[in-house]
Amino acid sequence: MDRNQQLFEQAKTIIPGGVNSPVRAFGSVGGIPRFINKAQGAYVWDENRNRYIDYVGSWGPAIVGHAHPEVVEAVCQATENGLSFGAPTENEIRIAEEIRNIMPSMEQIRLVSSGTEATMSAIRLARGFTGRDNIIKFEGCYHGHSDSLLVKAGSGLLTFGQPSSAGVPDDFSRHTLVLPYNDVEALQQTFASKGDSIACVIVEPIAGNMNMIPATVEFVQALRTLTEKHGSVLIYDEVMTGFRVALGGAQSIHGIKPDLTTIGKIIGGGMPVAAFGGRADIMACISPLGAVYQAGTLSGNPVCVAAGIKTLEIIQRSDFYTNLNIHTQELSNGLTAIARQANIPFCSRSIGGMFGFYFTPDLPNCFTDMQNSNLILFKAFFHAMLSHGVALAPSAYEACFVSAAHSSDIIADTLGLATEAFTEIART
Ligand code: PMP
Repeated sequence: MDRNQQLFEQAKTIIPGGVNSPVRAFGSVGGIPRFINKAQGAYVWDENRNRYIDYVGSWGPAIVGHAHPEVVEAVCQATENGLSFGAPTENEIRIAEEIRNIMPSMEQIRLVSSGTEATMSAIRLARGFTGRDNIIKFEGCYHGHSDSLLVKAGSGLLTFGQPSSAGVPDDFSRHTLVLPYNDVEALQQTFASKGDSIACVIVEPIAGNMNMIPATVEFVQALRTLTEKHGSVLIYDEVMTGFRVALGGAQSIHGIKPDLTTIGKIIGGGMPVAAFGGRADIMACISPLGAVYQAGTLSGNPVCVAAGIKTLEIIQRSDFYTNLNIHTQELSNGLTAIARQANIPFCSRSIGGMFGFYFTPDLPNCFTDMQNSNLILFKAFFHAMLSHGVALAPSAYEACFVSAAHSSDIIADTLGLATEAFTEIART
């Protein structure tokens, strides 16, 4: 038994499923998850001393590359002054100002420790601000694991959702309407019949949790127009897309000013930092100013904030996103060309440092399209790449990430390995 396998067996005796977050267990691809003991730049190493070119990037945060020396130094320096104070610090102002410079729609900002906390708090705030209970989310979008958001689509349009997790009372999910992504008509119909009861619409503006599916221009415009018309709060969940698809996130690409935005992942540079923020009049409803309660013992933790400030500094250096875009496109276009040559139905797209690939004949535009992807081919490709030393997200429904440490040479190496992988799977 190799060491990954040994550790997995041992982990299962004490940690449910052997993991602290479900997708890490390789449930949908099968096989043994790799236990990682080191990450540096574009690479991770497992407990068997195998090295992988890493496109998971800790699920998004590692945009400057793993363990960037300047980020590690900032963290080490911060630890010398203490690990946590539970009191305000000057650096919290600095990071909030930096975020607002990059995303001006976030007029006021509150720091939290995870994306889940950010979206949960933004929704509570939207409900408190509007005095309404219902919320709209879209099929295939993930916004963390708070109760109101763990809801799957009902059986038809305009039906309220069903809980998608045990332990969520129907009473919670009945306030969550689930609509198809990129479906302007469904959105219009819902606002026409229930508009005045909708507290907010929460959306992944470029979805990354049903693989990568961007919102269409028409959909984005409808979101903004309809929420404005009906006094509902538009929440852009940019936990994944913030500082990832472009410096200013999806909202800078869409030219949209959401009422509230949630961010996470990259602003902690690998440490637990997330935030929600937006219109000052809405944010004024948060405690201690207003009646909507929200708090956190470790919110704005000084060590995590130090990692975030340094990461935000690095991503604003010249050509950061130009290079990131070029490398991600090289990978996405390269994979498509190789797969086509091997006669495998395959598509790929990228925006900034985020890319999606699909075993479908055409690019998917919603969750239903994604369900037509060939999961057998995905699994075979995933394992072929892993055995050649390339770590992709272990699920067909996740986007992948490129970092500044993925040089053209590393992308070329990846494409060489992908050629072997595609040839192998085409043979089977
Ligand atoms: N929103 C989006 C769009 C996400 O992708 C995620 C996590 N992948 C979350 C919220 C939840 O963030 P966290 O895992 O930090 O709670």
